[in-house]
This record gives sequence, C-alpha cells and structure tokens, in this order.
Amino acid sequence: MPLRSCVFAIKGNSLDDGPGIRSVVFFKGCPLSCAWCHNPEGMRPGPELAWDEEACVTGCTRCLEACPEGAILVQDGPPGPVRRAGTGVPGRWPGTMLSSRPPGPVLNVSARFRERLTSFRNRVTGRTKSRSRSASAGIVQKEEQGRHVGKQAPRVLVDRARCTRCGLCADACPSGALSRVGQEMTAGDILAAILPDRPFFDRSGGGVTLSGGEPTSQMNSAGELARRLKRAGIHVLLETCGLFRLEAFDRVLYPHLDLVYFDIKLMDTGKHERWCGTGNKTILRNFVEIYQRACTGGVAVLPRVPLVPGITDTEENLSAIATFLRDNGVAQVVLMPYNPLWPAKRRRLGMPPPAGWVPPSHWMTRDRMAACRSHFHGIQVDE
Ligand code: SF4
Ligand code: SF4
Repeated sequence: MPLRSCVFAIKGNSLDDGPGIRSVVFFKGCPLSCAWCHNPEGMRPGPELAWDEEACVTGCTRCLEACPEGAILVQDGPPGPVRRAGTGVPGRWPGTMLSSRPPGPVLNVSARFRERLTSFRNRVTGRTKSRSRSASAGIVQKEEQGRHVGKQAPRVLVDRARCTRCGLCADACPSGALSRVGQEMTAGDILAAILPDRPFFDRSGGGVTLSGGEPTSQMNSAGELARRLKRAGIHVLLETCGLFRLEAFDRVLYPHLDLVYFDIKLMDTGKHERWCGTGNKTILRNFVEIYQRACTGGVAVLPRVPLVPGITDTEENLSAIATFLRDNGVAQVVLMPYNPLWPAKRRRLGMPPPAGWVPPSHWMTRDRMAACRSHFHGIQVDE
C-alpha cells in the first residue's frame, strides 16, 4: 500500500520559497502551535473543514441536509436552540462553533457572494444566463433585503467528534462557504501535479519545497516524496520548525535533501513554550547537529527568524539568537517580517484567537526591520 501524505495545498510558480521557481507542497500537521502561525491550515493533522461566513447563504441548509452523521448544525437566530441534521430535534449543541462573529445583521454582501448565489440560483432553476439575469437579480435583492433588515446571519457549526470528514457537506454547499482543507495524496499523485513545471525548475535553478505545517510530522511519506524527487534530479528544499526525531530524520528524509530552511523563533525555552506550545531544547540541539554537518560537506542549512512584534522581535530575543548563531559559526540568516493576514484564516477554521495577545494588523515598517537587522552584526542578513 503506497504511503499517503495529507497535503493542504500545492503551490506552483513560487519565487518566495527557495532558489529559482519552485513548487511548494504544504503538509498538514505540526508539533508546534505558534500563536502567529501564518498557515493555520497546516496546524492540525488530517483533513478538516473550513467555513467562510462571508460566502454562506442566508436561509440555506444544504450542508445540514447533506451530513449523514448529524454533525452539522445551522443556527439562524441568536445563540440558543439549533437544528441538528437527522434528528429534527431542537437542542443545544456542545461542539465547536465555526463562527466567531457575534450574531447581528449582515450589512455587506460581497461581489463574490452575488456571483455565486446567482450561478447557484441559475443552476437550480435551470435558467440560462441571459434569461435569468433580471430574475436572479431580484432574488439577490431579496436576499440582500433579508440580510439588511436585521435577519441573523446563519451560523454553521460542526461537531468535530461526530464528523467523519467525508466532505459531503462541502460538496453540497452551493456557494463554496464550506470547503475541505487537506487531501490524502501518494507521492505519485504529488509528482503528477508537480512534474509539468519541471522545465521552469530546470531553467531557473528552482525545484520543490516541502513546507507546511511541518513536513517532518509526516516523516515517512515526506521522505518518500523527497526520495522520488531526488531520483528525478529535482532540487529538494525542506522548510522545518526543527522539532523532529533526529534518528528518523536521518534515516528517512535527510539523504534526499539539498537545502534546509530551519526556523529559530525564541531562545528562552519558557517563552517558546508559552508562544509555540513546547520548549525549544530539541529544536536547538537539532539545529546545532545539522548545521555542523553542513560545515563539513552535509546538506546546506539556512536559519530563519520570524519577526513577530512584541514576541520574537524583542531586543533580548534577537540578541540571544544572534549570539547563538555566532557561537555556532553561522554566517547567514533570513529575517522574515511579520505577516498580518493569518487571523481571517484562523477564523475560517474555527480556531479561537491566541490567548493573551492582540495580533498587530499591520505590516512591519522599514525602520523596524532595520532595528531588527542591527542585532546581527557580523552575520549576513537577508529578508
Ligand atoms: S464532513 Fe461529512 S460528517 Fe463531517 S460535517 Fe461534513 S458531511 Fe458531516
Ligand atoms: S455553509 Fe454552504 S450549504 Fe451550509 S448553510 Fe452555508 S451556504 Fe448553505
């Protein structure tokens, strides 16, 4: 039976994830739970559902009707009684609420929503595009009126304990509000998706980047993919949080790599535990081990530091990281400026906001980046 990886995206034509033009394979699952994770789709292992409340259609209950497990609930009013599929019995439900927005009137109907609703109505009524334009516009208007006059937005809830991840609800959703995140794929499936881009790799000095999530959380299947890529002569780069069992890494993945991007976030292990969910001792030990190998002809390793305002970009932390890198003879580091786009993704996945921190909603300024760079004198700093 071929090994399967759970992958939440394969991105082609990337210029940001290593040398040249690259395809990036995003693995699901990570042993860390960084408060600022900019790919929250990669945090949990296995396929899951995402719900986009902007795209959800008022009055629709398609997902509720499609779910064979009674795991979906749709709430049209204020918090309280909800309907569960298959039972018809109103009742309170103890599962995860995917909506984090308090109930209230919805004032904006996006263009994307209008388009999807129009096409859905056309499909259902069997109308042609030209004939249906004015009629469907009327329906949209009614929907808009419904939404404007104070009708509560539907709130979709998924009982993760009941959910078997069959995806039938996502298939039934007319607007794409519910979607699957994560798909089981063999190395052959992934290669078939990637190989058409091979001419771009070859001409640009690019290749394939294993990212996530954390690829080493699926060590065997990531290793199998890396082995087949390497055998095909394709450059393989691993992006890692550094928390893995070195023995398994050496046996399964390391021999098939050309380059490792290794994240170092916080030097204080208590703070690392507070903000990333686990201490940093294994991570730092792994870094020292594979960096020493790189110095003696092993796979090249490039440390990267995510700059998170108030957490990793403090003078104390950056000075400590710079000292650690100098002590280990590191000549080059990448500083990754804070990316404020992740909270919306987290909401769609039903993840609560990180506790005890209000994430900044702005990008880092040039002055702030310059201040961060200043700690790394003697080391080449890239961004
Ligand atoms: S994935 Fe399947 S079991 Fe889970 S909520 Fe959707 S329809 Fe129900
Ligand atoms: S998530 Fe999709 S299927 Fe479910 S109520 Fe919203 S629009 Fe309808």
